[in-house]
Amino acid sequence: MIVLKSRQEIALMQASGAIVAEILAQLKAAIRPGVTTAELDEIAARETRRHKARPAFKGYEVAGRVFPATLCVAVNDEVVHGIPSPRRTLQEGDMVGIDFGVCYQGFFSDSAVTLAVGEVDEESRRLMRVTEESLWLGIAQMKVGKRVGDVSAAVQEHVESEGFSVVREFVGHGIGTQLHELPQLPNFGQRDRGVRLRAGMVLAIEPMVNAGGAPVRVLSDGWTAVTCDGSRSAHYEHSVAITEEGPLVLTASGEKRVASLGTASGRDQAFASGAPLQGESQA
Ligand code: MG
Ligand code: MG
Repeated sequence: MIVLKSRQEIALMQASGAIVAEILAQLKAAIRPGVTTAELDEIAARETRRHKARPAFKGYEVAGRVFPATLCVAVNDEVVHGIPSPRRTLQEGDMVGIDFGVCYQGFFSDSAVTLAVGEVDEESRRLMRVTEESLWLGIAQMKVGKRVGDVSAAVQEHVESEGFSVVREFVGHGIGTQLHELPQLPNFGQRDRGVRLRAGMVLAIEPMVNAGGAPVRVLSDGWTAVTCDGSRSAHYEHSVAITEEGPLVLTASGEKRVASLGTASGRDQAFASGAPLQGESQA
């Protein structure tokens, strides 16, 4: 069942998303050669407590396995779901994916970003740029009357036009009072197929893109997914509410949310015509 959210619920989800955006910005500032992924996790855990939220992933259970940390951290050929460790020190030239979510006042938000550690090579920069572009191209399709396949195809077409591959084994998802709700939102698919998008749906869109082939495998820790061919992988994610006035990016902050969508007026309208959305003034 797909749960539609009211304007009031979307306002709460925006407050939840703003916490995630703020903490991701703090993590971005903390990334440098020499920092361990466990240190990043400690920052996220502390800041989540300070915002009176709780981590979305810690304690998350799949097939009897419990995820032990606040962040999922994926370095280089790691795709998603890496476990932070005091033994994992970031090096100059690494690229690191940080996936983070919280539950705040009963509502989840989920976001991810991939960042360069110091200077990275040209192909890594291109991989990050194309993956982030595919995220925003997908978001631009998240309008009432479009279908899930329109979003999926927009992501896939851009990624493949650049010679990269989308991961098949992990997909985006609905989000709300549960971290993972229906519908699933794959990063591959066909236009005009799948569930039709309606106002009040909230979806986490999360392109996972490999520089080489699409196949991934999970390491013996039961969580960390890596590319089978050892190529690097990038991951970006936003939680997005579908409104009559267009997509509302709950986990983006400030300028970016407006500029990248290229629909600033549509977004302003969303606020003008609805209930006041919490936390908007400092966004
Ligand atoms: Mg995520
Ligand atoms: Mg997600």
